[in-house]
Amino acid sequence: MRAEIIVTGSELLTGGTIDTNSAFLADELLELGIETAFKTAVGDNDKDLEDAFKRARERCEIMVVTGGLGPTEDDITRRVLARILKKRLILSEDALRSIQAVFAAKGRVHPAASDRQALIPAGARMLRNPVGVAPGFFLQEEKKLVAVLPGVPAEMRAMYREELRPVLEEYRGKDLFICRKILHTCGLTESRVNGLLEEVLRQKQPTVGLSAGEGQVDVRILARDRTAARALRSAEKTETAVRKKLGDAVFGVNGQTLEDIMGALLIQRTLTLAVAESCTGGMIGSRITNIAGSSEYFERGVVTYSNEAKTELLGVPAELIERRGAVSREVATAMALGIRERAGTDLGLAVTGIAGPGGGTPEKPVGLVYLALAWERGKKVDEHRFLGTRDQVRQRTAQAALDMVRRYLIA
Ligand code: ATP
Ligand code: MG
Repeated sequence: MRAEIIVTGSELLTGGTIDTNSAFLADELLELGIETAFKTAVGDNDKDLEDAFKRARERCEIMVVTGGLGPTEDDITRRVLARILKKRLILSEDALRSIQAVFAAKGRVHPAASDRQALIPAGARMLRNPVGVAPGFFLQEEKKLVAVLPGVPAEMRAMYREELRPVLEEYRGKDLFICRKILHTCGLTESRVNGLLEEVLRQKQPTVGLSAGEGQVDVRILARDRTAARALRSAEKTETAVRKKLGDAVFGVNGQTLEDIMGALLIQRTLTLAVAESCTGGMIGSRITNIAGSSEYFERGVVTYSNEAKTELLGVPAELIERRGAVSREVATAMALGIRERAGTDLGLAVTGIAGPGGGTPEKPVGLVYLALAWERGKKVDEHRFLGTRDQVRQRTAQAALDMVRRYLIA
């Protein structure tokens, strides 16, 4: 069963607004076993909309449209759609009542123009708007289904979840279940993961795919089956096969982040952490403190960007920096030991590196980064050579630093 998602609005085509609706919908449809075959973005132009609707209707069983339901002249979705479906627009009493109720609840008189939003094609059924004014609608005919949702993302999502999703569940039948698992990995390149998973990636069922982010490769497993239990079992079987190949590189599932996992491990082991950052300028501390409850294990983070700061705040000997350079194994280690001691934590993490684009030399190129970790009875320092822009080097450094702590905690 295939769907086409059509997002409407000229602002989506000028770079002013990023289309988030189609990503949300594709994800949700997949959950129901409905594959999105096409996504189309189209401006507020009568002829272009007509073309887009016609084509979608020919090539897909399901068409989901967002936007253009408002009360203004440029909101033409319902008019154009009614024309190609060869339906009259009729005033839905249900829709009218729900619009009036929204204004009444706010103690406001409802503007006459808003009644236009109660027009839906004959034969269509209204979709209630749980958080806004404009109702949506859907129409099912000759086995094809068309649904129209508002453009405002929060309204679209609420209407999908509460109103359209049950309709689609009914429509697709009860014989196809999807189980999706995303495994997150760190420390391996995409081509390395690809090499290790060659066999699994070739299998037809469940399907397995890769996607790469900064310092992270995700393995997406998608199982379809006749019952939910069977889909789950087959996804789990593939998950086991993937984990066996990738080992400790798998740090989480379904949206978990390294900072989530690292924090949970620190709590579990009742350990505390302090961080000294140079080239990441606070990114690591920021990610750690994104997690609610991080005060339980995160004591402090300091940004020691200059050589003086490294000496003053961490006690790194000026002479060592002079001799080895600020970006060196020795200085990274001294930073980790220094922050651990001054903060009085179980662990001290430090990073120093050359983010670029300037500042590199043949011996110390852009992307050279040292990560050091100190604990009660020991210390460790890793050298990395990251490729990419300044921003990428910094993001990859933060990712690798959190992963270093995670790997220490599970070793
Ligand atoms: P309204 O009643 O507000 O006019 P509408 O259903 O007519 O609602 P639009 O006018 O198309 O919807 O869009 C309303 C708002 O939602 C705009 O700010 C627009 O930028 C945003 N929006 C529309 N489509 C998308 C999309 N695909 N992704 C993200 N934002 C969107
Ligand atoms: Mg609008």
